[in-house]
Parts: sequence; C-alpha cells; structure tokens
Amino acid sequence: MTATVTPERPVSLPVKRQVSLQSILVLGFLHLVAAFAVVNAFRSPPSATVWVLFVAMWVLPQLGITVGYHRMETHNGFKCHPWVRAVLVVFGAMSVQGEVNGWVLNHRVHHHFQDQPGLDPHSPLEYPGIKGLLWAHVGWLLFRYERPAQFRTSARLEADPLARWQRRWYVPLALASFAIPFAVAGWDGLLLAGFLRVVLVLHVTWSVNSVCHKWGKRAIDSAGNVYLADDSRNNWMVEILAMGEGYHANHHAQPTWAFHGWKRFSFDPSKWVIQLLATVGLAWAVRRPDPALVFKSHQLAGAGEDRQRVGPTR
Ligand SMILES: [Zn+2]
Ligand SMILES: [Zn+2]
Repeated sequence: MTATVTPERPVSLPVKRQVSLQSILVLGFLHLVAAFAVVNAFRSPPSATVWVLFVAMWVLPQLGITVGYHRMETHNGFKCHPWVRAVLVVFGAMSVQGEVNGWVLNHRVHHHFQDQPGLDPHSPLEYPGIKGLLWAHVGWLLFRYERPAQFRTSARLEADPLARWQRRWYVPLALASFAIPFAVAGWDGLLLAGFLRVVLVLHVTWSVNSVCHKWGKRAIDSAGNVYLADDSRNNWMVEILAMGEGYHANHHAQPTWAFHGWKRFSFDPSKWVIQLLATVGLAWAVRRPDPALVFKSHQLAGAGEDRQRVGPTR
C-alpha cells in the first residue's frame, strides 16, 4: 500500500482539546480493577482453572483482533467460511477494542497517513520523545476522534449483515468477556481472566502502535533494501505477546499479506491459525509472502523521523 500525502489537514483528526470523558472513565475503571486483581492474586493465589481461563481468554479474543479484525477485515489478506468469520468477529468484540467497523476504518487511516504528524491518528512522531510514545500508545484514545471524510464509513461493512449484527450486539458480546470467566471461576476468574487479561491485551495491542513505531528492526526485501517509508519496526517482544503482530515493519511494507512473519519459521501464531484454516479448507485466497519481493522506490525514501527533519518527502 502506498501512503499518499493529502495537502490539507483533514477536518477532524484527533481534536486534542476535546477530552473524551467516556474513554477516560472506561479505561480508568478497567485499570483500577486490574490493579486490584494483581493485589488480590498475591493475597490469595488463584486456582489452575483461573490460569487456564486467563490464557484462553487472552488468546482467543486476541486472535479475533489479529486474524479477524486486522488481517481479514481491514486488509483482506484471506477469505474464510462465514462461520469462521462469525467466530472471529465475536472473539474480536470480546477483546473490548470496539466494533469491527470503527476498528477497521481507524486502522486504514493509520496506514494511509503512516507516521505523518497531524494526519496519522496514533504516530509516536506526533510529539517528540516520551510524549509521542504515550500519545501513540493510549493518549489518542483519550480524545474525541472523528475520522477524515474519506474514512468515515465503509460501504462494504455498512451493508454487511455480520458487521451490522456485531454492532447491535457489541455491548453484550464485550460483557461476555467478563461474564464467562465469572461463570466458570467466580470472582477470581472475573478479576484475572476478565479485567486483568483485558487490560494486558489492550496494552499489547497498543504496543503495536507505540513500541512498533519506535524500537526494533526495519523490514528488508530480498535484495537487502531497507523499508523507510515510515517508522514501523519489527519488535521481537511484541511479536511474541501479540500473536505475530510485532512484525509491524513487514506489515507496513506489505499490508495485504496475511502472513506478517515472512520467513518459514517466523514466530507468527496468527499466520499459523490462517495456515491451519487453509489446510482444512476453511480459508482460501490467502495472500502469502513473495520471497522475491523487492521494495518500490517510494518505499526506500527517507521518511518517518527523516521527514520531521526535512518535511514531507512524497
Ligand atoms: Zn503501524
Ligand atoms: Zn494493518
């Protein structure tokens, strides 16, 4: 995907003066209960059932985001059976990251304006130093954000029965993310596999926006060229925690490829899930990495931090 510079600033990127009280209250509440969950776990160690639930409730909703929301719904990296898609969209809602429609559109803005201050909704380059990192991580979510006009709606998702169904049932689905661990393992289940797990997965997802645009290795093509069109990085720690999404520089270089770990043994669990679905015939039209990839010239141009010094390069 090629980033395109729009000459004028979109009418309503993060309006930094209008704080979103709703976001602050919801995220503040989640973090307070998650902190209590940690203290409580030290006071009375949770059972093995709680830890199994913790892992399951971490992995499945996160795959809903990485495989479902991101690689399929946003980038069309593969197609799958309608029931598989429904399961992924339900898991995605249980990650408490919003309904699929808004998630997809916000992410498309990020790719379109990748790392251009004032245009990308969550680039660390928005501010210098730690302030920019915090802005990309969570700060942008604490302000009212209205997407630029061309990203305000998706005709496909507006007409899509599953996306419309998820919008109608989003709140009950998100609450199920807490109700299921409570029903299975009581208060310990709710605190650890519900609240603490949701908060940790949020931070892991947010790290793709912050850490993976700051620290790590650049993407490299088959000729040894380095991708420089933005400041995205492949970060090994985020790769592990975020089911392969830490190969973020690879992803910016080739957004539609369903596999972010390009090498055969890259640690990319989301890729393994898509491979498994394809093997049993539940996924198809999988966009796989091309070992002969050579970046185009505009992908080699100095951008990102360089752009801050010299101005827009494209
Ligand atoms: Zn990015
Ligand atoms: Zn993406």
